[in-house]
Amino acid sequence: MSEAKRIDGKAFAETLRAEIGRKAAALKDAHGLVPGLAAVLVGEDPASQVYVRNKEKQCVEAGMNSVGRRMEVSTTQEELLAVVDALNRDPAVHGILVQLPLPAQIDSRTVIEAIDPGKDVDGFHPVNVGRLSSGEDSLVPCTPQGCMMLLEDTVGDLSGANAVVVGRSNIVGKPMAQLLLAANCTVTVAHSRTRDLPGVCREADILIAAVGRARMIEGGWIKPGATVIDVGINRIDAPERGEGKTRLVGDVDYEAAVEIAGAITPVPGGVGPMTIACLLNNTLIACCRQNGVDVPE
Ligand code: NDP
Repeated sequence: MSEAKRIDGKAFAETLRAEIGRKAAALKDAHGLVPGLAAVLVGEDPASQVYVRNKEKQCVEAGMNSVGRRMEVSTTQEELLAVVDALNRDPAVHGILVQLPLPAQIDSRTVIEAIDPGKDVDGFHPVNVGRLSSGEDSLVPCTPQGCMMLLEDTVGDLSGANAVVVGRSNIVGKPMAQLLLAANCTVTVAHSRTRDLPGVCREADILIAAVGRARMIEGGWIKPGATVIDVGINRIDAPERGEGKTRLVGDVDYEAAVEIAGAITPVPGGVGPMTIACLLNNTLIACCRQNGVDVPE
C-alpha cells in the first residue's frame, strides 16, 4: 500500500488566514467595520504568553484590531470579571478570549459564563455549547472547527462515515463529536474507560485523536485507508537532536500510521496552525453578526 497523504495544516491555515484578511478588508470597505479581538492573559505562564502573542500577531496581520489585557497572577476573580464586563460593553471589541488555564483563585467556569455569548470566540460559553448541540448558529470551538475544515477538504462529503473521536474534553473531543454528527457521520466517542480501544479505533473511517499521550495510537489500530486527524501536542525527549533537546509529537505513532492510513495530519504542522486561523474566522463572524451584516463572500 502506498504512503498516506500528508494533510498540510500549515499551508491550509495560511490560505485561510489570507482569505479572512481579504474578507476583513471587504467588511471595512463596505461598512467601515474592523473586527476587534480582545485577549486576556492572567499571570505569566510561558506557554500561554506565546499563544496569546501569536494570536495577537496573526489578528493584526489579518487586518483586525487586537486589544491585549495583561493581568497580574494575583488578580482576583472580581477584578477579572470587571475586565470581561468592560469588554462585553465595548462596541469595538467583537471577540473576547480569556486564556486558560487561570490561576487557582479564579473559577474558569464563572469567567467563561460571564463572557457575552455573541463575543465568545472560543465557543466555550454554555449558550454556544447548547446551540452547537442543537444544530443552531453558534461560535464553534476553534480546534474542532479546524479539524472539520481539514477533513472536508481531504474527504469531501463525510456522510455515513464511521468517525471515532478519542478524548471527550469540552475543548476538543465533545465539540468535535457534535460537528461530525452534524456532518452525518456515525460517531463514537472513546475515552480512558473505553474497553478495547484498539478495536474501536480499527472501525474508524475517520479517526480523531485528542488525548494528550505521546504516540499512544499505534499503526495496527488504524483501519487501512482511514483519515487520521491528530490533535495531540506532546513534548518528548529527543536525545538524537543533542543533549537536553526535545521535540513535539502527536497522539498517533505517525511513522507507523502513515504506512496504513489514507491521509494523516503531521505534528507539528497539522491541526495546530488551524486553531488561530479559526479564532480569526470566529472574530470576523462575531463582528458581522453583532452589526447585522453578512460575512463578505
Ligand atoms: P484533556 O486532558 O482535557 O482530555 C483528554 C481526553 O483523553 C480525556 O477525555 C481522557 O479521558 C482521554 N484519555 C486520556 N487517557 C486515555 C487513554 N489511555 N485512552 C483513551 N482516552 C484517554 O485534553 P484536551 O482535549 O484539552 O487536549 C488533548 C490533546 O490535544 C492534548 O495533547 C493537547 O495539547 C492537544 N490540543 C491541541 C490543540 C491544538 O492543536 N491547537 C488545542 C487543544 C488541545 P477521560 O475523560 O476518561 O479522562
